[in-house]
Amino acid sequence: GGHSGWEDVGGLDDIQNSIKEIIELPSKFPNTFIQSPLRMRSNVLLYGPPGCGKTHIVGAAAAACSLRFISVKGPELLNKYIGASEQADLVSTSLNKKFRIIVGNSHIEMKREHVRDIFSKAAAAAPCLLFFDEFDSIAPKRGHDNTGVTDRVVNQFLTELDGVEVLTGVFVFAATSRPDLLDAALLRPGRLDRLLFCDFPSQRERLDILAVLSRKLPFAEDVNLDAISHMTEGFSGADLQALLSDAQLEAVHNFLDSENDSNQGKMPVITDALLKSIASNAK
Ligand code: ATP
Repeated sequence: GGHSGWEDVGGLDDIQNSIKEIIELPSKFPNTFIQSPLRMRSNVLLYGPPGCGKTHIVGAAAAACSLRFISVKGPELLNKYIGASEQADLVSTSLNKKFRIIVGNSHIEMKREHVRDIFSKAAAAAPCLLFFDEFDSIAPKRGHDNTGVTDRVVNQFLTELDGVEVLTGVFVFAATSRPDLLDAALLRPGRLDRLLFCDFPSQRERLDILAVLSRKLPFAEDVNLDAISHMTEGFSGADLQALLSDAQLEAVHNFLDSENDSNQGKMPVITDALLKSIASNAK
């Protein structure tokens, strides 16, 4: 793993361009941003079906723009809640992937204070990209939680988002595959008001994703990714990744099964026939 930048992202060109603009404009034209009487919008909600690259593109953006990356994941918090006996690392943040900071520990569930804490850590780490993944599980619609804890979390988000100015150098991104579950107030102007839709990839985008993901794979010479991209209508980026890793595994098995002297010193390779048979059996 590890993100090294835009070259790891296949397709999603419009989204890449929007993100570049959002992140780069304030530093290119600081005076415009300082003098503008308007609140400039730099907070982003990525939404769309699972596995279509929302998390992936945000990590790539942080790396490509040399921003520190603070990532907070919803279900991680919930899992910790369920397993409250284990020592809970509520939020782990990685700064340029070199250090880890734990924001708060041995708490039981995400509370308003954690939201405040995360935003103040982000302000201290600026310029940075503060990312909330699976945001629907962190900030669902208010009014459905008897304890009121989640409602207070959402209220604190609203307060914090209203306080984030472009020039503080904190870019707030969130991602969800269920935008309908979010509290609508989060999406009002000045909050997470740049909505970017990550859809299933087109054929051209699938080809691009396959090329990106297979860069270091041992392909036989006959592999034709163009044909594979045409066979995989409806696949997400995550599905394409699974296809390639299944092919890799299968290639290793085939290699072991056919072990003989002629294999000596050779490596298992992924053939076109193998990719095609897996692609046509998946989905
Ligand atoms: P979820 O809603 O389930 O969190 P997601 O949209 O955030 O899904 P990712 O986690 O970003 O999806 O994608 C899963 C994996 O699929 C990534 O780790 C990456 O390897 C691969 N992938 C998805 N889309 C792309 C893409 N456009 N380019 C390269 N790889 C991709």
